[in-house]
Amino acid sequence: MTLEPGGAAAGAPGAPRRPGAGVPFLDLQAPYAELRAGIDRAVSRVLSSGRYLLGPEIEAFESEFAGYCGTAYCVAVNSGCDALELALRALGVGPGDDVLVPSHTFIATWIAVSAAGARPVPVEPAGGGTLIDAAGVEAAVTPRTRAVVPVHLYGHPVDLDPLREVAHRHGLHVLEDAAQAHGARYRGQRVGAAPSVAAFSFYPGKNLGAMGDGGAVVTADAELAGRLRMLRNYGSRAKYRHELRSGNSRLDEVQAAVLRVKLARLDEWNARRARLAGRYRAGLGGLDWLRLPEAAPWAEHVWHVYPVRTRHRDALAGHLAEAGVQTLSHYPVPVHLSPAYASAGLPAGSLPRAERLAAELLSLPMGPHVTDGQAEAVLDAVRSFRPPE
Ligand SMILES: *Cc1c(COP(=O)(O)O)cnc(C)c1O
Repeated sequence: MTLEPGGAAAGAPGAPRRPGAGVPFLDLQAPYAELRAGIDRAVSRVLSSGRYLLGPEIEAFESEFAGYCGTAYCVAVNSGCDALELALRALGVGPGDDVLVPSHTFIATWIAVSAAGARPVPVEPAGGGTLIDAAGVEAAVTPRTRAVVPVHLYGHPVDLDPLREVAHRHGLHVLEDAAQAHGARYRGQRVGAAPSVAAFSFYPGKNLGAMGDGGAVVTADAELAGRLRMLRNYGSRAKYRHELRSGNSRLDEVQAAVLRVKLARLDEWNARRARLAGRYRAGLGGLDWLRLPEAAPWAEHVWHVYPVRTRHRDALAGHLAEAGVQTLSHYPVPVHLSPAYASAGLPAGSLPRAERLAAELLSLPMGPHVTDGQAEAVLDAVRSFRPPE
């Protein structure tokens, strides 16, 4: 079985001692095995077509994914990070602007803001949770703030209505980072549904993953979609007419063809993730040293990962590794303490909630292809852990 980091995360505290004998954090061969005939046919269709970029597969995927999300336009690009950066640029966010981002997220959220020339300004997660909320955003707004990037982290949507109200009052753009939330619903609407502007990643380990890099922006705004189409292709609408200074972030036809096959299976695979989450909750609910992730009553969670929380994270990761259960920490180093943001003036202690989450979260194996036997092995391994006194 393939062992590959899930999400875009790196750094595994618990590599299995006995690979093959245990439970991998993520198995990327199983999804291909399940859809092999359809994927092979789709790839071969593209290879024979002689059309490899900006052709019929991209057009079809864009229209299918926009329809799936419940909006009018989708512009496919080369990665989730590019989707975020180009969306910010299309919204007119750039040098001199501050953009509010979660203190607890994958670094790509911050990097995209920096790449657009703006400054990421962290907002701590609300209460005891992992997501930002409207009150935290409002408290962080200054005259320099131009936009906010809520992240539907781990597959759970942010509470958008109050956040949109705050953003509207302060004249802020809202760009949703939906890289981990394909198919999730907020009050019955899919993440990305109009009037959202949302960026998705199709990194292989995401709920909707390509077989390589990919990303997309969805929007209900025709003009914004038009600017994004230019920004992904050297600022041009027509060959050799360059209206904007921009590079190349095209998604290729092979990836689009693969994504179309997998999109048809997304809801079913998300449902399998939800069943596994239910099983984890039923099996681990009574442990007083362990906090399990929850879904708000208004949310349909798509369980991109299943992060449990404990003060004994490193010991638990070690115990699970001994039992052959591979885990990952999302994310072991908070963004502001990464060397990449050393110059941001955010020393250790400045974002205590993000720092605690980085020390206490541990993600259990999660995905549509975790077998019943593997789920049992995970439950047994967690239940047999004795936290040190
Ligand atoms: C994966 C991810 C991204 C970036 O996606 P890439 O396709 O790897 O560039 C951005 N934000 C979050 C929250 C992610 O998990």
